[in-house]
Amino acid sequence: MHEPGTDHGERLAQWTERALAASVLCASSPVLLEDLLRRRRKWSLHWQERVGKQRKPFRIPTLPTPDDAPRRLRLGAKALALWPLLTGKMRLVGPRPLRPEELKGISADSPRLQVEPGILSAYRARQLANVAFDDENSIEEEYARGRSLRRDANLLLSAAMGWLLHRPEEASEHELELAQVPIARISTREAIERIVGYLDQPTPRFVAFVNAHCANLAWTRRDYREVLQTADLVLADGIGVRLASVLHQRPVPENVNGTDLLPRLLPRLAGRRLYLLGAAPGVAVEVARRLRQQHPELVLVGARSGYFKPEEERQVVQDIAESGAELLLVAMGVPAQEMFIARNLHRLNVRVAIGVGGLFDFVAERIPRAPIWMRELGLEWVYRLVQEPQRMWRRYLLGNVSFMARALRERRARRSTGGLR
Ligand code: UDP
Repeated sequence: MHEPGTDHGERLAQWTERALAASVLCASSPVLLEDLLRRRRKWSLHWQERVGKQRKPFRIPTLPTPDDAPRRLRLGAKALALWPLLTGKMRLVGPRPLRPEELKGISADSPRLQVEPGILSAYRARQLANVAFDDENSIEEEYARGRSLRRDANLLLSAAMGWLLHRPEEASEHELELAQVPIARISTREAIERIVGYLDQPTPRFVAFVNAHCANLAWTRRDYREVLQTADLVLADGIGVRLASVLHQRPVPENVNGTDLLPRLLPRLAGRRLYLLGAAPGVAVEVARRLRQQHPELVLVGARSGYFKPEEERQVVQDIAESGAELLLVAMGVPAQEMFIARNLHRLNVRVAIGVGGLFDFVAERIPRAPIWMRELGLEWVYRLVQEPQRMWRRYLLGNVSFMARALRERRARRSTGGLR
């Protein structure tokens, strides 16, 4: 549960949290007192029953405020939730405190009941960072098992970042456009719904992911840009595009990437015919083997490497067309995979073709995926940079800077033409 020598750090952290809670509560007391005096008999504190560490019950005070209450009063009332921090029943970070009736679904020795619950839960932090893919209880239990100060600091940081990037009030009807490519402002779940919907329609569809590197390419390469403009669905991949979407006042709800989308799409593909094209020799076959094992309901009709000569392309396309595949995943890197799909979409005889970049290498575990704490912070690119510095430094170090510069320039241009508020 904790490493030796961290007790001191733990105590210090808890006292710091207490001091923080005490300061916030003191700061909000004048506004609460003023409201108490003004409303007197109508002032009623509610106490929410919760279950804490070792199933010990405790209560969280809440003060219902009228809808038209001033903002400072609403904030003051919210600050009351920090009370259990002072009494030591809760911590700043910890599993979400359970209501007594929720205990039924939780086993008695669940790790989440061995630590103090928190104001910010691991599940909420992951939701804000768009990486909450498992159910709430497994995320909270996993957190409680590996709880540490570093992990808490990480969750606070990722929640703060997610909160800054989360601007539902700015949501507008308009699409996000980067490098003249319209990018869908939808979540992973909605993207899956669309893809599954496409599978039932006869028109072949082309789905692409665009991250900062892709946008840079689209800005400089007209052929790739034009290909992306023909795609039926372009998904916003990575923290860079998400940041740019906020700058453009067209926030995307989530970072939608292939590595997180595929495991959620696969269970929806029972009985569907799937073809895997891409990556080094043997990798696609290995991915097919793993998918067959994990999803016996899938029908894998073909797998082949993405290294072939231009003169072999016709044969590759024919193989796919004859395989009867409905869904084709192409993992040949950007922009080769998008060019391949756009060039051949009407000959491939598939319903949906998706460019998925390095996905097969991750699924076959040729390249390890960044640990969850890095993904929570939107730092998966740093992990890839460290793995392959020679290939990736230009893409990430220079690329991210020029991406942000271009995104800002586009935003300025749009603002001056009245496209932005
Ligand atoms: N690849 C391929 N054919 C090629 C060049 C690359 O199949 O001619 C594969 C490569 O083995 C890797 C993927 O394409 O599996 C590209 O991965 P990368 O991480 O570079 O993807 P990107 O970020 O470019 O989309």
